[in-house]
Amino acid sequence: MTRTDWYGHRVATERAQEKRRCGHRARLALTPVQTRLVDAQAHAARTMWNLLHDWWTMLPNAKRTLAAADAEIRRARREIDWLAALPAQAAQAVLKTYFQAWRNYWDGRAGVPHFKARARTVMSVDIPQGRDLRIKRVHRRWGMVNIPKIGRVRFRWTRGLPIGKAADCDNKITGARLVKDPLGWHIAFRVQTVGPVPEPHTGPEVGIDAGVIIPLALSDGHHQDHGRAAHLPDGTADRDKWLNPDERIKLLRLEQQAAHRKSFRKPGQKASNRLNRTYDRIASLRATAKRRANDWQHRTTTRLASTYGVIVVEKLDIPNMVKRVGGTTEKPGKNVAQKSGLNRSISLEAWGRTVTMLTYKAARRGGTLHQVPASGTSRRCSVCGFTTRGSRESQAVFVCKNRDCGWSGNADLNAARNVLHLYRTGRALVPAAGRAVVRRPRGVKPATAP
Ligand SMILES: [Zn+2]
Repeated sequence: MTRTDWYGHRVATERAQEKRRCGHRARLALTPVQTRLVDAQAHAARTMWNLLHDWWTMLPNAKRTLAAADAEIRRARREIDWLAALPAQAAQAVLKTYFQAWRNYWDGRAGVPHFKARARTVMSVDIPQGRDLRIKRVHRRWGMVNIPKIGRVRFRWTRGLPIGKAADCDNKITGARLVKDPLGWHIAFRVQTVGPVPEPHTGPEVGIDAGVIIPLALSDGHHQDHGRAAHLPDGTADRDKWLNPDERIKLLRLEQQAAHRKSFRKPGQKASNRLNRTYDRIASLRATAKRRANDWQHRTTTRLASTYGVIVVEKLDIPNMVKRVGGTTEKPGKNVAQKSGLNRSISLEAWGRTVTMLTYKAARRGGTLHQVPASGTSRRCSVCGFTTRGSRESQAVFVCKNRDCGWSGNADLNAARNVLHLYRTGRALVPAAGRAVVRRPRGVKPATAP
């Protein structure tokens, strides 16, 4: 690339640079003793949140300040000795996350912050400062990281990280978060890099529909399918479609075992250690399935983002869709059981994740993602444009009711072509940047936010 300078000479210019932030998750190899220590830190972090929440919600508005909250956290760490298991930096991170949670609520991005119950909370500890981590690569497959108050811990090295000579003020690791899932403790690094702004992607345009029969139907017919049926023969969503036949049998046996053990439990009695172990095994099988699904989504979205320059998807209004399916008490919705609950939430969650992945992957390759309004895409004929109810004869087949057209074909393909058509005719939605819908209840003044 060249530009003309003040004297009229052509000089080469460097491409504009852009800052990118991304996360990288790696599995930690903790010893049983270290695992217990990290568990204790996570419980302390959760308790800290709960204490802060109690204190904040009891206090009159005028006294809610960041300084007072900070003093409160320091006092709690002095007075409750097991809270000291949590490093001071991590305690500060709890405070920061707590205030961010209120800000998200005031801006309408999230629900109101709530008490974190022991059983339902994801265990996590923040390491807010990158320099505390002192990361080193020790083997082709292993790295070493320093975890405050725990020590040096190995983690799986699966991707190059900006450390040592590769690190500078632009490219660095700015922090990390320890997160526990049923497969154990993981570390999620916050990676910041600076690179050239990508050249505009010149690939073709494509419309994508979250299909009922095909997981991702593409308007050019290159459907993306993982080859696993989404539904059981009775029409309900198959939540374990990512498990192999052997694993399904194992899961069924574990579930029967859990139900049997549970039948001996009296009301109010705590679950036995045996029962808890069975629950852990079920959770780890489910986590394996989820990991496979995630892997497929990542590989598929990467392929789509590198092939296509313009990707068009439907804008799904998820909260409203869930509401509409349920209907009201006077007028309940149709087929509520098939559409709502687990069925719906699984497919919607997967679709939401796909769109998120496509957004950042397309941007990184110079492509763009557009959203179009979702109304009528499954009822309109993509050949002649005739729209009527009942053209979608079944989940799989679309037959045009226009006598002169009569096109019939895959219903998901038809919807994907309609999605692309909406974009080509200028119906793409403009993202409402900075115009978040404010859902602020009366009585809570945003001025009290720090
Ligand atoms: Zn038609």
